[in-house]
Amino acid sequence: MRALVTGGAGFLGSHLCERLLRDGHEVICLDNFFSGKRANIQHLQGHPAFEFIRHDIVEPILLEVDRIFHLACPASPVHYQYNPVKTIKTSVMGTINMLGLAKRVRARILLTSTSEVYGDPEQHPQTESYWGHVNPIGVRSCYDEGKRVAECLMMDYHRQNHVDIRIVRIFNTYGPRMAINDGRVVSNFCVAALRGEDLPIYGDGKQTRSFAYVDDIIEALVRMMNAEGLTGPVNIGNPDEFTILELASLAIELARSGSKLTYHPARPDDPVRRRPDISLAKARLGWAPKIPLRQGLALTIEHFRKNLGLSST
Ligand code: NAD
Ligand code: UDP
Repeated sequence: MRALVTGGAGFLGSHLCERLLRDGHEVICLDNFFSGKRANIQHLQGHPAFEFIRHDIVEPILLEVDRIFHLACPASPVHYQYNPVKTIKTSVMGTINMLGLAKRVRARILLTSTSEVYGDPEQHPQTESYWGHVNPIGVRSCYDEGKRVAECLMMDYHRQNHVDIRIVRIFNTYGPRMAINDGRVVSNFCVAALRGEDLPIYGDGKQTRSFAYVDDIIEALVRMMNAEGLTGPVNIGNPDEFTILELASLAIELARSGSKLTYHPARPDDPVRRRPDISLAKARLGWAPKIPLRQGLALTIEHFRKNLGLSST
């Protein structure tokens, strides 16, 4: 198979390119380096089955591929709120372009949607049948509503044009290769703990998230792409739920750090609770996450320790 990975130089995308090459596929990685990095894919550049194209998916592109893993979109609030108009263009025009390509070359296309489509959820845990509680005009809307439109486009191209689609809704994912300046909570806490700086808590820290290790999520993406007769959406994430304060203590403990916490105003529209119901993924993909937070966070801290040039003693 020849697979296109949009957003392939990003955090999840680079792990996915690696996995697809390992599985024996040809991989075309497409990225505009908005939040991704050349360094994430440098080790793949010499691989005979790997090709990189610098391209912005807001513009159309024609390629001969069998599978499209459509990941391109900034995912950290810091990145997606930096240029919100561009974020929504990426989700809407980018997804139209990728669906147009899928239709033309008859490729199967998988969209990495997000738990953010549930907004600040009033149902807990969140099942795929829940329609969400999203502010359409807030500072997170460029991302949340962008992904909701992307899901709608996927379904309409499927119903109207019979495009072969897969939709997954990914919950908070972390792991090696997250950028030091990514801005999401796991990287912020690991980096601050390793540097001995204060860990910034937005709000009272009692809000929850459910954190999945990158390898578990990549396995789910591959299974979803290969599944027959299943369009989704399917939730993928780790249902173990933690408060942000619990995450902070664990990061401090595992980094063997003396860092303290500082409190800052809560971010606007910050979801209070989030935990996936993964019954559907278990039943249809035979998938469940394997790596608990303590283990995954230790691996992630080692990654940041190396990247920051700190010794492990
Ligand atoms: P990331 O920011 O590391 O990767 C996104 C990649 O897309 C980057 O390499 C970026 O340069 C590229 N990109 C952005 N806009 C582009 C454009 N217009 N044209 C071409 N490339 C563009 O983020 P990530 O965590 O790897 O997320 C990947 C995907 O997974 C995103 O679609 C995100 O919404 C989804 N997702 C991620 C998480 C998570 O916790 N990591 C959770 C839910 C959903
Ligand atoms: N958060 C925090 N300190 C940080 C970064 C994030 O307390 O340095 C909180 C944030 O307010 C949110 C949670 O951690 O409640 C997860 O934030 P993140 O940006 O990782 O992802 P989100 O799930 O909000 O998209």
